[in-house]
Amino acid sequence: MPTNKPGYMKAYRQAQAAGQKCPLCTCGKQLKGKLSKERLTCSLCWQKSDEGKAETLRRVREHRRKQTQEKEPKSLTMSYPYASKIKVMLSIGYSGAEREDFISPKDSSYTESEWNALTEQEREDWVIKEADEWAQDYIEIDFAVVKP
Ligand SMILES: [Zn+2]
Repeated sequence: MPTNKPGYMKAYRQAQAAGQKCPLCTCGKQLKGKLSKERLTCSLCWQKSDEGKAETLRRVREHRRKQTQEKEPKSLTMSYPYASKIKVMLSIGYSGAEREDFISPKDSSYTESEWNALTEQEREDWVIKEADEWAQDYIEIDFAVVKP
């Protein structure tokens, strides 16, 4: 997972001290991180972009690949009624800090024949995109200044 290298805030403060202007995202947020600066997009706008969505697909696939390496590969080859229950999981890496829900191709615009005609890859892409949108509803990032 690409992350900002430690020290990017120090670099930001040095640039500020040198009187350099911080570049802005189209939404108005300051672009402080290395990745944000390279993309000229803040992380929130990035997630919503086509490239950001493609990156989410890659990340989830990579995660699933690692998870299933020593187990039976999870297959989405299933009939439409059975596929009406796809469990989606959101985790921040701590035990217990997980959220589960079910998504269904019946809730999408797919008819049964359209769903059955999809390839395994297309089904997986659909599930990941749906799961990503579902997850966004639970992700909220905020901050507060705490006095020592
Ligand atoms: Zn933005």
